[in-house]
Amino acid sequence: MAGKIISKFFDIDGGNTIDVYERHGGYQSIRRVLKKMAPGQVTDEVLKSNLRGLGGAGFPAGRKWSFIPKDSPKPKFLVVNADESEPGTFKDRYIMDRYTHGLFEGIMIASYAIGANKAFIYIRGEYVRQAENLVEQIKCAYDRGYLGKRIFGTNFNLDLVVHRGAGAYICGEETALLESLEGKKGWPRMKPPFPAIEGAFKCPTIVNNVETIAYVPTILQEGGEWFSELGSERNGGLKLYGVSGHVKKPGVYELPMGTSLREIIYEHAGGLQDGRKLKAVVPGGSSAPVLTADEIDVKMDYDSLAKIGSMLGSAGVIVMDDTTDIVRALYVVTRFYHHESCGQCTPCREGTGWAERILKRILDGNGRSVDIDNLLNIAGNIMGNTICPLGDAAALPLKSYLTKFRADFEAAVSDRNGVGKVADEPVSLLN
Ligand code: SF4
Repeated sequence: MAGKIISKFFDIDGGNTIDVYERHGGYQSIRRVLKKMAPGQVTDEVLKSNLRGLGGAGFPAGRKWSFIPKDSPKPKFLVVNADESEPGTFKDRYIMDRYTHGLFEGIMIASYAIGANKAFIYIRGEYVRQAENLVEQIKCAYDRGYLGKRIFGTNFNLDLVVHRGAGAYICGEETALLESLEGKKGWPRMKPPFPAIEGAFKCPTIVNNVETIAYVPTILQEGGEWFSELGSERNGGLKLYGVSGHVKKPGVYELPMGTSLREIIYEHAGGLQDGRKLKAVVPGGSSAPVLTADEIDVKMDYDSLAKIGSMLGSAGVIVMDDTTDIVRALYVVTRFYHHESCGQCTPCREGTGWAERILKRILDGNGRSVDIDNLLNIAGNIMGNTICPLGDAAALPLKSYLTKFRADFEAAVSDRNGVGKVADEPVSLLN
């Protein structure tokens, strides 16, 4: 990994084992937490750190933990979302491969803070090697007495279970994930109730992303303020940025939250191939609205990207140079969301299918000039009209690609076989 590494955990060498982790000071934070801190103090420290939900939503982690009802007699659960399915995103795999026990220590601390004695790691089905590694390393942690009963001689008990998904993108959405965890079809639930009140098995549950939890031991060791000051205002700490596409050095880069997109692309990821120009960048996984080459002087944090109409999402940065066929790029993204729609909501189920078919027709040389506005219309009718964010995830790229690169789409409908030139009369969306 290139870039300035500040988090000591990513400097660990010698292998991803419990012994190596302990030699580097691992499992010290949880020992101290269990002996010296009340659960509420742990949550307060995480609140101070400005740690946001790093899976994409960006909700402050400490605030989420504080929603767990303290007087509920029901068991509480922590569920770690390792479903990482957003195209362009591969940072959690990196953590699970190299920092497994750091993740476990974060799970232990978070579980203690919310009063959970059972935690789950829900991992996407395609991550076979990572799932096997987790199971093996959990066994090591049990053998040492770091999981199970009376951990480090205290009254704290914790069991940790790995649950494998079956490869559905939608199971990365927290309520679909919980349905799947319960053994049901992965259909998102209507909210409220939110999982903190009624989550897994109708019990209070916190769902946090792998990366969010993996930073918790460092925060408890170095202090919330220290972590907060590493990042930008209201966006604490460090962040893993996964860079793919047309750069010389694709990979995962751990950098302060708020590092500029230009610095990530040109300094850390090595810039574009010689002679190529930047055309477009998706800053936060395929659902984030696309940026043009003129927009890359933006800070890569939740608030700064929101201000320019995009989002940090999963921080999966997809770089496209001037060889990119932007119409095809949007088609690929739209086809994905159509395929992954669970089908519960009409706007998402039908709209993504219509959009895919129209884009395919344009690519096949049968585009019509009305297609562009029809696509924008479809996107507008999906936005905000669905149960879960997948609808918006499909509509946002449609809207942003079509608006920012309208000239490319206009050229595509008029140039390919000339069909688009005669098509201003009403046409069926589905032809
Ligand atoms: Fe399913 Fe799409 Fe509705 Fe989400 S928005 S619940 S994926 S149909």
